[in-house]
Amino acid sequence: MFRWIIIPACLLIPLTGWSWGFYAHKKINRIAVFLLPPEMLVLYKKHLVFIEEHAVDPDKRRYLVKEEGPRHYIDLDQYGPAPYLSLPRSWKQAVAACGEDNLNKYGIVPWWIEIMLYRLTTAFMKQDLFSILKLSAELGHYISDAHVPLHACSNHNGQKTGQRGIHGFWESRIPELLAESDWDFMVGKANWIADPLSFIWERILQSAAAADTVLRTEKWLAQKFPIEQQHSFEERNGILVKQYARSYALAYNRLLRGMIERRMQESMKAVASFWITAWVQAGQPSLALLAEKQFTTAEKAAFDLLQQGWNKDRLAYICPDDAP
Ligand SMILES: [Zn+2]
Repeated sequence: MFRWIIIPACLLIPLTGWSWGFYAHKKINRIAVFLLPPEMLVLYKKHLVFIEEHAVDPDKRRYLVKEEGPRHYIDLDQYGPAPYLSLPRSWKQAVAACGEDNLNKYGIVPWWIEIMLYRLTTAFMKQDLFSILKLSAELGHYISDAHVPLHACSNHNGQKTGQRGIHGFWESRIPELLAESDWDFMVGKANWIADPLSFIWERILQSAAAADTVLRTEKWLAQKFPIEQQHSFEERNGILVKQYARSYALAYNRLLRGMIERRMQESMKAVASFWITAWVQAGQPSLALLAEKQFTTAEKAAFDLLQQGWNKDRLAYICPDDAP
């Protein structure tokens, strides 16, 4: 006889994740492609599925590579009160002021985005199809993570305030419920960014400023909303999952006044703008011929390896919700 297996949502890695959920990351990269100028669209549209699918590779890699974790967040509250002036914005000065170990401990997302932008620029210069697509997909991931308030705060899953699960609630559950049916992703064209590091710092400071609202609002709602109606069980791939209930999610989203939709929109535009910036910095090479090329067998094998590692190691993983 068939029996339901009930597991908490925190055990379902693809549903909760450590960053925007898998659904949102893929959606952000997908929409970002359509914000590009025609000279870039010729390549990116042809590889739309790749750019979308590989948006989540950095999260998959977190199971396999120790250094991967800090690239997705920065706990700004560890550097005193806003605007965190004890933390210089440039990497060199931040290392001098705070030490590299501390920076790695509390997250390095702004500087990792800077590195990825440099690598993507170089890939454009070399006309290296594999690297352009891989780095574009992954740069999209880190930029999107920088837009998530709980990625800029050490209380990343409400573990300090009795709100465990709020991370996936904000970034996975609500986008999955609303993005397709209710949200508008006509966000206009993307543009070249003159000062990418300042741009991403501005977005991260916005994230840090919003973290308090994300946490406080849910705390308030949890006290007002009937407790037995805050969670529900839903079937996912034959497994019964305990989730935040739809009505509770809708109420939370209303109280946040469009914050999640807005951050998704801003992520999309920022991702496309960084891709454009790398291309412009590389001298705007023509991508038309590159669009005709294919991946080599060795390049394809590298992705298979990551997927195999992900399939194997995620099963051994217990609960990612305490990680940002
Ligand atoms: Zn991430």
